[in-house]
Amino acid sequence: MSKVPALELIDIHKTFGDIEVLKGISLKAYDGDVISILGSSGSGKSTFLRCVNLLENPTRGEIVFNGNKLDLIQGESDLVANNMKQLTQMRQQIGFVFQSFNLWPHMTILQNVMEGPLHVLKRPKHEVAEYAEHLLRKVGIAEKKDMYPNQLSGGQQQRVAIARTLAMDPQVILFDEPTSALDPELVGEVLGVMRNLAEEGRTMLIVTHEMNFAREVSSEVVFLHQGIVEEKGTPSQVFGAPKSERCKAFLSSVF
Ligand code: ADP
Ligand code: MG
Repeated sequence: MSKVPALELIDIHKTFGDIEVLKGISLKAYDGDVISILGSSGSGKSTFLRCVNLLENPTRGEIVFNGNKLDLIQGESDLVANNMKQLTQMRQQIGFVFQSFNLWPHMTILQNVMEGPLHVLKRPKHEVAEYAEHLLRKVGIAEKKDMYPNQLSGGQQQRVAIARTLAMDPQVILFDEPTSALDPELVGEVLGVMRNLAEEGRTMLIVTHEMNFAREVSSEVVFLHQGIVEEKGTPSQVFGAPKSERCKAFLSSVF
């Protein structure tokens, strides 16, 4: 019996106006895969990641989650969800960590982490509180639980955002440049948390410019160029012996 991918994207296209930003991108993530997505600014990395859970509607393509094809119908210019219940269920199982941490400013750190499981998953409060504190310890921030987001550094806020995502028990986590908004000295603490998640066997798609991190933690590396997969392979293939000239040029510009 062959394994079913946790997540499969098939021939994803996305057009904004007259411009085709994604020109047919396919990707498969099995449970435990850590896939890093690299590429220069404007190559379509964020658009692609946002298409996974329909934060952006693809113009064409298929999204399959645990073998279940997402029900899409033709909208005015893009494909749109035809089954909101299915989409909502999928979104609950796919966490998203953004470059800007987007914590709720009026809630404490603990409340931020508790909000989803409490109000979306409707889990009992004592259980949620206990789990939230466990997750805050895991990202090294338990002692800040009663503070508000603006009292924390960017690196601490991003670690809270990761704990908040974990609180929903997602099967897959998408990261869109989670360290790009951070001062350089704060990048390491967030990458450290992500490295632990990778070692735990979490399934993750990570858009990043942190090449050493990508090289060390990824099971697969995908390099996008102008909306196509220009190169992909294991970290040693892509970083050690890239075939594409564009990928070579990109890597020499960032290392
Ligand atoms: P990356 O994340 O790799 O930097 P993006 O996916 O953000 O790239 O953007 C890819 C291209 O799509 C860029 O040229 C960008 O200007 C364009 N784009 C992204 N979002 C929109 C939008 N909502 N409307 C129009 N163009 C967009
Ligand atoms: Mg981007």
